Amino acid sequence: MISPQEIWNRIKTILKNELDQDVFESYFESINEVYKEQNNTIYLITDSLFTKTRIQNTYLPRMNSLLSEFYSEPHYFSLLAKEEIEKDRISNKREINFSHSNPSGLNPNYTFSTFVVGDSNRLAHRYALLTAEQLAGVANPVYMFGDVGLGKTHLMQSIGNYILETKPDKKVLYVRTQDFVEDYVKAGKDSGYDEFSKKFDNIDVLLVDDVQFLESKKQCQIEFFKIFERLTGDKKLIVLTSDRKASELKDIMARLTSRFEWGISLDINKPNKEHRINIIKSKLKQEMKDPEIFSEDIIDYIATVCENNIRELEGALKRVLFYCEAFEEDFTLENAKEALKNIVSSQETIVSAAPSHDLRKMLDIVGAYFKIDQDELLSNSRKKEIVYARQLCWYIMRTKYDLTFKKIGDIFNGKDHSTVMHGYQVFEEDYKTSEDTKKNVENILRKMGKNPDKI
Ligand code: ADP
Ligand code: MG
Repeated sequence: MISPQEIWNRIKTILKNELDQDVFESYFESINEVYKEQNNTIYLITDSLFTKTRIQNTYLPRMNSLLSEFYSEPHYFSLLAKEEIEKDRISNKREINFSHSNPSGLNPNYTFSTFVVGDSNRLAHRYALLTAEQLAGVANPVYMFGDVGLGKTHLMQSIGNYILETKPDKKVLYVRTQDFVEDYVKAGKDSGYDEFSKKFDNIDVLLVDDVQFLESKKQCQIEFFKIFERLTGDKKLIVLTSDRKASELKDIMARLTSRFEWGISLDINKPNKEHRINIIKSKLKQEMKDPEIFSEDIIDYIATVCENNIRELEGALKRVLFYCEAFEEDFTLENAKEALKNIVSSQETIVSAAPSHDLRKMLDIVGAYFKIDQDELLSNSRKKEIVYARQLCWYIMRTKYDLTFKKIGDIFNGKDHSTVMHGYQVFEEDYKTSEDTKKNVENILRKMGKNPDKI
């Protein structure tokens, strides 16, 4: 995992290449250190309030869109002017009041008012709203599932933000399952499990995002089960999200997955074109003073080229906006096409970045290394050793060749990109913690004639 500092360094370099020299020097040159990272937000410090406002108004969408390429979950930049920090230090507050951070862990931008309803999410939205009004009175737990980038986190956090606003005495806590797991492991090493589980005492609403990350984490599941039982026993609301149905989760205790099905399960699907167009229009209203200058044909074009997921759709829109603003171009369809050139032709770029003979060679080598048939490697077999070898391939394809999860899925017999992403994340975790796994990757890269240090 690259550090936020390193990510900022890289983004700064990209901005340097993209922006006029004087713009870069006036606004970005002096922003060096990342002040801190918290709740998916990276805080940068600007020289003055003027610079902060200028960046916020013009360059922030582009910065956030670049940032989204480094993380699978949404992350944001937030800016603080030097004087704001100093003022805060003088008043001796312990914690600066950042716009994105609050004890609930919620992002205040994820609200019902910014969530666009369509056929693919109508039912989920209706229940989410009912739940926000009546808490555990509707169904408990509320389990929402669907592919990546379709709005699960947004909808779940809308519930939390709505409750905080309408019932301020309620204690809401949002946790990403990855953080839950990480904190649990840390607790074992230092503060102890009691301290860890205390965090969940006196909570009225617990929002647990991406619960599929509990897979294969036995001890964590047991701890989670206890918290779950305690809260539901006290009629406290639990909302969960996952990338698939509870019954399709693997390596999670049956008593836990069956609990997930006790309440209500809601699926969120891909938006149709009309829905995508409405989403674009809604984002334009939020981002622009005069959304009308964005013509129907541009909106239609973006909605046509980004059909799989809303995060991509947002990214494309931000790119077009940035392109047009930064270069002071008219908002024409040609400009929009130019701005999205790389996204639309990414398939071709990918092929050139990863010559197919290289990939074939990798499959041969991995097959021989683990004594597995190539067909099996590409199959849907869930045998442990095959899954491992397959995920290793995905890891190399992603880190070495920068292939998208979708492209990798296509090569592996049309696997869904969320399956690939999940497998990749599991393997990445393993790579970080297991010497054997690290060795395996290095050996294979060496056999492929690649430099293993450059992963
Ligand atoms: P998931 O958790 O399913 O991966 P997110 O909730 O992170 O997806 O959504 C990805 C991005 O798309 C977010 O920026 C979110 O605000 C936006 N988004 C998703 N669904 C909608 C919607 N129905 N209306 C407006 N924006 C949406
Ligand atoms: Mg999410």
